[in-house]
This record gives sequence, C-alpha cells and structure tokens, in this order.
Amino acid sequence: MKKIGLFTSGGDSPGMNACIRAVVRSAIYHNVSVVGIMRGYVGLISGEMMSMDIGSVSNIIQQGGTILKTARSKEFRTKEGREAAAQNIKKWGIDGLVAIGGDGTFRGASDFNEEHGIPIIGVPGTIDNDIRGTDFTIGYDTAINTALDSIDRIRDTAASHDRIFFIEVMGRHTGFIALDVGVAGGAEYILIPEVMTDIDKVSQLLLHGIQRGKNSSIVIVAEGDEEGGAYKIAEMVKEKTGIDYRVTILGHIQRGGSPTVRDRVLASKLGAGAVELLIEGVSGVMVGEINNKMEPTPLENIWDGKKEIDKNLIRLAEMLSI
Ligand code: ATP
Repeated sequence: MKKIGLFTSGGDSPGMNACIRAVVRSAIYHNVSVVGIMRGYVGLISGEMMSMDIGSVSNIIQQGGTILKTARSKEFRTKEGREAAAQNIKKWGIDGLVAIGGDGTFRGASDFNEEHGIPIIGVPGTIDNDIRGTDFTIGYDTAINTALDSIDRIRDTAASHDRIFFIEVMGRHTGFIALDVGVAGGAEYILIPEVMTDIDKVSQLLLHGIQRGKNSSIVIVAEGDEEGGAYKIAEMVKEKTGIDYRVTILGHIQRGGSPTVRDRVLASKLGAGAVELLIEGVSGVMVGEINNKMEPTPLENIWDGKKEIDKNLIRLAEMLSI
C-alpha cells in the first residue's frame, strides 16, 4: 500500500475533519501518501483530487464540517460512473480508499470494490448513529449535545410562558437522537419511528400533566416518525385536547459545530484504524468501535438489517415521564 485515496460522502458530520487528519497523519507515519478526493463520489468521477501532506490537515481537528466537502452523486450509482471513477484511481496511482460516510456511501463503496477490485475501508461518519457495526458514529455525540443545548433553552421559554413545545430533531429512519436527547432533556414524551405513534396516549399524558398542575411540557419528535413530523403531530394532539402548542424544528444546526471530545477521539481512532487495516491488506469492511474495541465489520453486514435501538432506554423514558 503506497497511496491511499480519502473522501467524505453523504451528510456531513462534526468530527469528519478530525478523521481526515487522523487518516493523513497515520498514513504518512507509515510512509503511505494520501490523495484527498473532493466532494465524495462526485470528485472521484470528475478527478477533483489533490495530494495531502501533514500541513494540509493542520488546525482542523476542532472544526465541524469537512474540508474535503461532501456531495451526493447520482452518476456513481451507474456502472459508467463507477468506471470513470476507476480510471481516475488508476491515473492517480491510488492503491486503496478510505470512505468516511453513511450507509449509502458504503453501498457505493461495496459496488466499486466488487467491480474494480480496489481495496476499500469504510468509516462511519453521520450524526444519525444508524449504522450497524459500531456503538457510535462520528458526529453523533456532538449532534446530541447541540440538540440538548437547544432543548434546554426552549424549556426555559416553555416554563416561562406555560406552553407545550413539540421539538423535532434529526433522524430520518431512526430515533437514536430523539431518544437520547429526550431522556437527557427530561421530555414528557418522545416519538420515534421504532415505536408506533399513539396520539391518544400523547394527548392523555399531556392532559394528565395539566390536571396535576404542570404548565409546560416538551415533546420530542424524530423527523422520521411515521406520523409525519412535529407540526402534524402537534395539530393532531390539539384536535383531541384543545391544547395550544408551539413547534420548533432544530434542523441543520444539529449537523454543525465544533466536535466534542468523544467525537474527536473516536474519529482519530477510526481514521488511523482504517489506514492500518488497508496496510494489513484488509478490504471491504467498515471499521467501528464496539465496547471500546475497534472492530471491522464486512460492508454487506452493515445494511443487512437495522441497528437496534436500546429498548431499556425506551422503557426508562416512559417510566420517568409520568
Ligand atoms: P447519510 O446517512 O449522512 O445521508 P450516506 O452515506 O448514507 O450518509 P447517501 O446520500 O445515501 O449518504 O450516499 C452517498 C452517496 O453514495 C450517494 O450520493 C451515491 O453516490 C452513493 N450511493 C448510495 N447508495 C448507493 C448504491 N446502492 N450504489 C452505488 N452508490 C450508492
């Protein structure tokens, strides 16, 4: 392994830069050079690449986003697109790839690996934490702390005005963010895609709260909840109870910001781990961390099922919000 190509793909997440830094520095430590590929698969197809040295990743560990940019590429989903990408890999003399991204990124990486035999290691970078093969994804810890900070602020307003707030957090298919910030923020109710939404139950709980003198409440809604978002759910609850509400969609603020200690450390470990796996001749896996131990998981196992949410935490949330 003489030259590694590196890119970030899918949604950006805080800690991607720390991971880029770890890949570049650990590769150079092992006498392997690094080519940075801009905008994920878009840059791989267009050939927008550059050599990276130690200085190119100076002073980025604390920055959110990704200096390599990120994009979604329709072309890479086609054989022709991946063929064009393979030509660029040849042109640049790249022997292996590190792909930092989510589930979709790994599916693309797997197809590419199968068709063109280029060794690839995936690194889980997404705020949703919805990737199997790792306890946490890079960016998740920062995202939940950012969301929690906003929820705490909204609670101040909710309490001052005696209001019920429905707060929508990110999580297109999973409720990891919603469940963690809901428990940590003392939410009265948490709606996640993993649990069927019961509008009657939410309504009764809020009414019960009002009856016992509770003047403000917070309901956390995962954006992927099957009932279709915080506005719709709030309106359904109002129809049943007559309770007025306010809605806040936290949106993209959850993606940005300086990564937490946990995300920087995880990103550093997994970035260096990916390089060392490539050097050892491993390919077609994602490197994650399970019970504090670095673990490679074959890429096809990543999407072969859904990552399980913590059922005990769901139970705890119900117990504490009576
Ligand atoms: P996030 O979870 O943050 O959205 P992601 O990696 O899942 O990250 P996607 O947009 O799903 O984000 O995927 C990133 C890119 O990977 C896509 O734009 C596409 O180019 C490529 N890709 C996704 N799925 C496939 C697939 N089945 N085959 C080939 N390429 C794919």
